[in-house]
Amino acid sequence: MLDKVLIANRGEIALRILRACKELGIRTVAVHSKADRELMHVRLADEAVCIGPASSAHSYLNIPALISAAEVTDASAIHPGYGFLSENANFAEQVERSGFTFIGPRAETIRLMGDKVSAIESMKKAGVPTVPGSDGALPDDDDAVLATARRIGYPVIIKAAAGGGGRGMRVVHTESNLLSAVSVTQSEASSAFGDGTVYMEKFLEEPRHVEVQVLADGQGNAIHLYDRDCSLQRRHQKVLEEAPAPQIDPEARAQVLKACTDACIEIGYRGAGTFEFLYEKGQFFFIEMNTRVQVEHPVTEMVTGVDIVKQQLLIASGQPLSIRQEDVEVKGHAFECRINAEDARTFMPSPGKVTLYHAPGGLGVRMDSHLYTGYSVPPHYDSLIGKLITWGADRTNALTRMRNALDELLVEGIKTNIDLQKDLVRDSAFQQGGVNIHYLEKKLGG
Ligand code: ADP
Repeated sequence: MLDKVLIANRGEIALRILRACKELGIRTVAVHSKADRELMHVRLADEAVCIGPASSAHSYLNIPALISAAEVTDASAIHPGYGFLSENANFAEQVERSGFTFIGPRAETIRLMGDKVSAIESMKKAGVPTVPGSDGALPDDDDAVLATARRIGYPVIIKAAAGGGGRGMRVVHTESNLLSAVSVTQSEASSAFGDGTVYMEKFLEEPRHVEVQVLADGQGNAIHLYDRDCSLQRRHQKVLEEAPAPQIDPEARAQVLKACTDACIEIGYRGAGTFEFLYEKGQFFFIEMNTRVQVEHPVTEMVTGVDIVKQQLLIASGQPLSIRQEDVEVKGHAFECRINAEDARTFMPSPGKVTLYHAPGGLGVRMDSHLYTGYSVPPHYDSLIGKLITWGADRTNALTRMRNALDELLVEGIKTNIDLQKDLVRDSAFQQGGVNIHYLEKKLGG
């Protein structure tokens, strides 16, 4: 078992990782910026190291500072959480080269999945269904590009191989706009990501976002923990998630779940991961793989009873997976509302001092948050301040619990999106289940 883990993150996920470590008897090192001395997990960790000033570039993204912190505290492993350096192959490589265990996949796997063109290619090879599209990167040949779009059929979407966070994508509806859209996306991609490679996909008009959680030990064993629906998004940012995804064709589901575990074995995947799909008209289409723990992992934990972060730690310590596929069963339904410090109308971040915090409770209610009364939300980082998760015997019950839990949740002194979440869980289309990825933006716009 790992002896001491350095948590290279902040906020709720740092606290989440700390809890999993404590359960396994692993000692913890918190690292924090100068603006984050008051974080809850910093108080609870066995040791804490300040790694730099408030700006993430000089603290949470500062690889030498993180590695030195691991050295001075004699940590054995580093957990990257999500965001920051969690999908940075160079970081994973440097961590391992410095003699520490990186809690995640091998650097080559992160690199392979970080390039969407190579990710799609390897998924195709492994039998995972992908979106109809170009055969790899678009060539520097106008006629070939035009022919590819004709074959796929308009509308198409041009996407940067190195894109992320919903950036580096452009939808094209007619042939006359295609070549200029390709060249604009290429130049944007090369300035934003340092890589101008783009590819083309059929633009699906009414898909849902459905993803599959996997665990693999890199020793030939892989399982899936079923699926989640994350279709409620604003600007490609997820807002409210649930597990399992409602109203999915059972045969298509069984096929895609098997394809995901087969792909893990095929690529020698190690750790927790997520295959993201668009789901339309009963079919799944792979779009990308996330090689880290995701914000929305708790909904899967609530319906399967599997502690995903604990599994990450066990896998990183070299243990073979102890859970067999036939042991994993979905019981009931779970929702997660992301609670953000932001203005309800403009969605601008709203940092500041929390004058009152009261977390909801009761059977089937889980609050993953680093907040406490008196805590000041700093202006330098992501606006996520907590995740409210509810479980129920069925979807209706879980949703009723979420409505009641949101009514109990109090965060005063700063602006939050709690009212938006209250509104969403009372929305009639959402209550029926199965809304597509455009639903939330249409609702907000109209
Ligand atoms: P990122 O890594 O930036 O999140 P993704 O490839 O995951 O990029 O795509 C982000 C979002 O863009 C998807 O959740 C979906 O809303 C939209 N999208 C991507 N590809 C397509 C497509 N082929 N058709 C329709 N929408 C798409």
